[in-house]
Amino acid sequence: MSELRVRADLDDVAGYRQGRSAEPSTGRTVYKVSSNENPHPPLPAVVEAVTAALLGVNRYPESAASALTARLAATLGVAGENIVFGAGSVESIAQLIRATSGPGDEVLYAWRSFEAYPLLVRGAGATPVQVPLAAGDRHDLDAMLAAITDRTSLVIVCNPNNPTGTTVTDAELRSFLDRVPAHVPVLVDEAYMHFDRGADAANGIAAFHDYPNVVVAHTFSKAHGLAGLRVGYGVGHPRVIAGLLKAVIPFGVTDLSQAAALTSLRHWDEVMARATVISGVRDDFAQALRSQGWDVPEAQGNFVWLPLGELSDAFEDACVEQAIAVRNLGDGVRISIGPRAALDRVLEIAADFRAAHFG
Ligand SMILES: *Cc1c(COP(=O)(O)O)cnc(C)c1O
Repeated sequence: MSELRVRADLDDVAGYRQGRSAEPSTGRTVYKVSSNENPHPPLPAVVEAVTAALLGVNRYPESAASALTARLAATLGVAGENIVFGAGSVESIAQLIRATSGPGDEVLYAWRSFEAYPLLVRGAGATPVQVPLAAGDRHDLDAMLAAITDRTSLVIVCNPNNPTGTTVTDAELRSFLDRVPAHVPVLVDEAYMHFDRGADAANGIAAFHDYPNVVVAHTFSKAHGLAGLRVGYGVGHPRVIAGLLKAVIPFGVTDLSQAAALTSLRHWDEVMARATVISGVRDDFAQALRSQGWDVPEAQGNFVWLPLGELSDAFEDACVEQAIAVRNLGDGVRISIGPRAALDRVLEIAADFRAAHFG
């Protein structure tokens, strides 16, 4: 049989790998801290709203998401015409990449950063340009500026950065935006912004008001805890939004997702209270690791990064043996802020691991 036609330029693209689940072992409770999920169950009001919306699933969803758009626009202080929803902000990011970039174009982002970027850029036929992180696993914004060329069609800043947890401050972001050519869109991916307790924390929406080339991606998957319902959005200049709307997958955001997101926005204080608890647990966890001697970078997401290098596989194996799933990215391991019992067990594993490997 002759070869079926599939784009040959995708042959060497690695598909997205989901954070693994832990196997039960020795009768211990299994914990999955590999996918940056919110450990809290959905708010009761969200469960109620989704249950009610279930009765209408014989109908297609309302594509315009008008109630959700109106509520969100008021919450963010932007116009409805600045917002497009997607099936998770991964879809919003994909929309933006498809709307701005194709063969011959360069999409610039830091590396290591979010695993989905290279996949989505290659999927659009564009060329990824990965700028290595600087000391402390932070974005090297000067190197990113230097890497901008006539072919640069999009720049992505992941803030806080997944998987390292490091941030770009407001002053750093603005000084960067002052120097990026005004015609180049800059995506600020703020999936973890609600967990950022840093001094001078950047705010993508405020930056968008001052720099029309800024596009912001937000998600309901992390702080809002709605990862399974797939809803996120992009905020941008109407010209960018017009592009995103042409790259939308029709009906990606269901009425269930819209009802859940709307209800979650109405319970903003509870959502933020939970995010604050997670940030506090994260700070304690990162501190406990540092006092064991680990070199943990700034951690402002709902996760902590251990730059383990070649020991990443061994550390992951040690966790799996104790019924804990972590995210091994080859040059380090990311641990999501799950229940305290899970993190206590990781701390025991980490202490034993240090004793075994660093004497
Ligand atoms: C989790 C995540 C997203 C959004 O995920 P969705 O579930 O698709 O909304 C976006 N960017 C980064 C960096 C993430 O880690």
